[in-house]
Amino acid sequence: MVKTKSVGDNQSIYDLMFAAIANRKLPPGLKLSEERLCRVFGVSRTRLREVFFRLAQDRIITLKHNRGAYVTRPTARDATEVFAARRAIEVSVVEQLANSAGAQVIKRLEQHLAEEASARSEKDHARLTQLTGDFHLLLAELSGNSIYHDIVRRLTALSSLIIYLYDSPSASACKDNEHSNIVEAISSGDAITAKSLMLEHLEHVEKSLKIDDEEQDDFDIESVFKEMLS
Ligand SMILES: [Zn+2]
Repeated sequence: MVKTKSVGDNQSIYDLMFAAIANRKLPPGLKLSEERLCRVFGVSRTRLREVFFRLAQDRIITLKHNRGAYVTRPTARDATEVFAARRAIEVSVVEQLANSAGAQVIKRLEQHLAEEASARSEKDHARLTQLTGDFHLLLAELSGNSIYHDIVRRLTALSSLIIYLYDSPSASACKDNEHSNIVEAISSGDAITAKSLMLEHLEHVEKSLKIDDEEQDDFDIESVFKEMLS
């Protein structure tokens, strides 16, 4: 049985659900049963609905009239829009970093690259996919612009759903050396190169996806949160 003890405030439930979706633990299109999730989190429907509302504003869940909540299943058009928005924002993120990043920031980025390299050498695909997504979020965070950070947080979560749906098994979401080239350009204060490398990188990621359609059914939603809560 799933535990029924309350996990805390709405923010904690929101964080858990956001992480579960962004980290590809819940598949796109999954119905989010209120009854089951209220039991999982030990909360009322009213509180769960407040969390659903915030996640719907992030666009990572979709509320359907009289039919409840679903993990968003991005269409091909959504994917195009998400990547267009990422190009616009993330180019500005790296420009800002190249113009302002100090030694501490460069050190954080290099540490992250080392983690990616270790996941890559261990052929840990799931961890690598998560780390490569986190890289983009880290850049936005380190840019010091909290609005960029919030937008990139939502866009990378949506990208996770897109990659979940459309990743081709052979491709890795971010190519081996592209992140380190971006960090190198930032570190040498070369904003023009950093911007063009980021643009190229996001184009590669988008092109590596195979956008088509498939259906998905029964899913053990309890076990995902049971694991995260234990
Ligand atoms: Zn990347």
